[in-house]
Amino acid sequence: MTSPFSDHPREECGVFGVAEHPESAVYTYLGLYALQHRGQESAGICSRLEDSSMRFHREMGPVSEVFPERELRRLKGNAAIGHVRYSTTGASRLLNSQPIYVEFGKGYLAVAHNGNLTNAKELQHKLESKGSIFTSTTDSEVMVHLMAQSPHSQPHKYIADALRQVEGSYSLVALTPEALIAVRDPRGIRPLCLGKRCWSDDSGKEHEAWLVASESCAFDVIDAKYVREINPGEMIIISDGQLRSVYPFEKKREASCVFEYVYFARPDSLLRGRSVYEVRKELGRRLAVQLYEKGIVGEVVVAVPDSSNPAALGLAQESSLPFEFGLIRSHYVGRTFIEPKQHIRDFGARLKYNPVREVLKGKRVIVVDDSIVRGTTSRKIVQMVRNAGAKEVHLAISCPPWKHSCYYGIDVSNYSELIARQLETEEEIAASIGCDSLTYLNLKNLLAATGLPADSFCRACFDGVYCVEPKGLDKPSQLNLMSKKEE
Ligand code: SF4
Repeated sequence: MTSPFSDHPREECGVFGVAEHPESAVYTYLGLYALQHRGQESAGICSRLEDSSMRFHREMGPVSEVFPERELRRLKGNAAIGHVRYSTTGASRLLNSQPIYVEFGKGYLAVAHNGNLTNAKELQHKLESKGSIFTSTTDSEVMVHLMAQSPHSQPHKYIADALRQVEGSYSLVALTPEALIAVRDPRGIRPLCLGKRCWSDDSGKEHEAWLVASESCAFDVIDAKYVREINPGEMIIISDGQLRSVYPFEKKREASCVFEYVYFARPDSLLRGRSVYEVRKELGRRLAVQLYEKGIVGEVVVAVPDSSNPAALGLAQESSLPFEFGLIRSHYVGRTFIEPKQHIRDFGARLKYNPVREVLKGKRVIVVDDSIVRGTTSRKIVQMVRNAGAKEVHLAISCPPWKHSCYYGIDVSNYSELIARQLETEEEIAASIGCDSLTYLNLKNLLAATGLPADSFCRACFDGVYCVEPKGLDKPSQLNLMSKKEE
């Protein structure tokens, strides 16, 4: 979860959709709850009512605060889509929250988008020169304008028409009076999966509700079944109780985000059919082998909780060391405490993590974390473990050094501050952080741990090889993709 004390890349967004169920709005609300880790700044639901009209509700804040019971009653319909947002492009404000809802010449349309368009600025300039007026500063609105300008009137045709013009990443869920449509970009950069829930009406007649979500954990919460991934370049159309699959785009090499396995996705989710939990344990096992090869010997393994727990467990099991809870995380650190004075901000790490001295005192401690961005939190954690009496502190990171910007929906606070850009070697970074040794999982091991073909992943933040180059950027920043109006 994002907090002022987080030194992790920031999550992007989460999308959810359900069709053919009378409790669609409540299911979407519960699904968004399960996807809350993907964005906490705003949430929204748009639903299609029995008479095919549409209603929506969006607010700033987490899901628990955005949807009072009366709103969910007002949204009751037979299909719904929802969105949780962290602002990777566009400012954090209500106008930029989603789903975007429009009433235009082709009818009603709601769109929820996870991803980032790398040619958004260019398209926006073109659209504005033809008279389009933008009401938000998100790249998602660009897609809606392109849909409005398409000569087609059927939703799946005008959506495909618009998406053929955009570049970058999109996992998109759209709702119209006729259909619920889910699309994944031809490279499948951001995740999107398909689920199903069978249900009976009051007369005992059986029905099938179809669901789509960024992650499968959103299906578990409403007792629905994970069916499969939505394939890169696939469009799913759910209309009149029927599901159709089409592939309207030119085929591209798959490049799904490998960092979802390391940090973003919940460990209880499946991604491309693989358990995120199991992949994270395998990251830890491979990290143990790398530590062994470097001759690093510890006495106890602790995780920086919670996202590093499975990797730390895998590392401990592989190296036959005890896994202990040496750092305890407070789950109640909110987003409100943003203190400008540095010495007060330094307490932030203590507010979030506290050491268990009995676990750490007098030991050679291996601390497992999933990533380092600026190194600020790592530095504090290492100091905290030392102050608790550790004899040695060895930091093990379950991914390679993060050196490059992500343009596909992930934000790192400030590109120039990435510690692995400023310092070359593990030894230099270890000296800066203050640990006895630092070991990053290498890229080969990261890719191998997924059990999937290495060339089917995006790993540009680690190796700088981008599957789609951003257009119209003068400085390398995720937020700069669409930020002109806020400069
Ligand atoms: S650049 Fe990194 S974080 Fe961004 S999509 Fe690629 S692997 Fe994921």
